[in-house]
Amino acid sequence: MSAQVVTPLFDISYDVGWIAALPKVCLHDHLDGALRPQTIVELAAEAGHELPATDPAALERWFVESANSRSLERYLATFEHTVAVLQSASALTRVAREYVLDAAADGIVYGEVRWAPEQHLGDGLDIDSAIAAVARGLALGEEAAAERGATITVRQILCAMRHTDRSLEIAQAAVRNRRRGVVGFDLAGPELGFPPSKHREALEYCAQHFLPVTLHAGEADGVESIRQAVVEGRALRIGHGVRILEDVVRRQRDGELADNVSRLPTSHDISLVPASSLYRMGEVASWVRDRHIALEMCPCSNLQTDAAPRVGEVGKPQPTEPTADHWARTYREHPIELLRSLEFAVTVNPDNRLMSRTSMTHEFLKLAEEFGYEREDFLEITLNAANATFLPLEEQDEIVERVMAGYSDAPVVG
Ligand SMILES: [Zn+2]
Repeated sequence: MSAQVVTPLFDISYDVGWIAALPKVCLHDHLDGALRPQTIVELAAEAGHELPATDPAALERWFVESANSRSLERYLATFEHTVAVLQSASALTRVAREYVLDAAADGIVYGEVRWAPEQHLGDGLDIDSAIAAVARGLALGEEAAAERGATITVRQILCAMRHTDRSLEIAQAAVRNRRRGVVGFDLAGPELGFPPSKHREALEYCAQHFLPVTLHAGEADGVESIRQAVVEGRALRIGHGVRILEDVVRRQRDGELADNVSRLPTSHDISLVPASSLYRMGEVASWVRDRHIALEMCPCSNLQTDAAPRVGEVGKPQPTEPTADHWARTYREHPIELLRSLEFAVTVNPDNRLMSRTSMTHEFLKLAEEFGYEREDFLEITLNAANATFLPLEEQDEIVERVMAGYSDAPVVG
């Protein structure tokens, strides 16, 4: 790609190809949210599953439009179709292989892809066979990418669904399948009303077996959900975590705490004054920031589902009936840059490439356009991710080296 993109705010021209080529580390991406439309059409035909559209371009539009509904529930409903076509070992292997190839084309050198085995057992697959099928696809994808000159490693994170009761089984499968490249455990699905405390046994099992945990939290529920993720779940990373902002309060000029601030400083204001002197952290936010618990941020996805409080909502819990302006509607209003200024370990991720029509490259490009991010900013975000993988240290060091090697040749801006 050689198209130039002129940013509206900074009058800098970015080369998409340059951003695409940057080595990236992807920590939060769902296998069942990353299918190629053409593949869905073919797999649906094989499985006899009826789709809302059978033309791949029309189907892609349907996914994006449904996902743009500003409701996490409707967003999640689009997965009925992707999950329906992923009920056989061969389908899981094919999609996992294509996932790796698409990730490599996006510049990803290391990824952790997550999926929920319990949702893929409809045709009689057992959990271990499903995991093996995904592992086979990932390995085939790595080989095919290597033949095309790209070095990429992708590991699995197994999700248990918050609203079902199979989490202990999934945690046990995750531990049992480490040799197949499973590196972590997650809770996904509806957050509100399904707290980690309902999955105490599974989380206890992960802790006892030293299996790293990342939990979706602070996306569809508030800061208390993040508290539970780190306390009950002993989470080492947080999926999304945007509502950590509810535990950050801006100080007034005289140092008094203000809890009803209509205008917050932009990232440019913050660069003039240390951000830490402008804000006070509650104990959850402090713990997450001080212990470098990485936030797996997925801005595009958040804008689609009304998950991220806009920057002006710092310190406010979710109102019972949120007004239209409570939620970030643009990248500019998304808390990602503020949280980064406050020195949280921010990482950037696609979440669901298909539904959000995004990629790591697209997320980076938006950050360049909206906040003027340059090479050093992307390097920092990428190292945050590289240092938060669920790999053993030796392997993690190798990923850091891959990143550094790719950055040594990159220009400051495109
Ligand atoms: Zn997610």
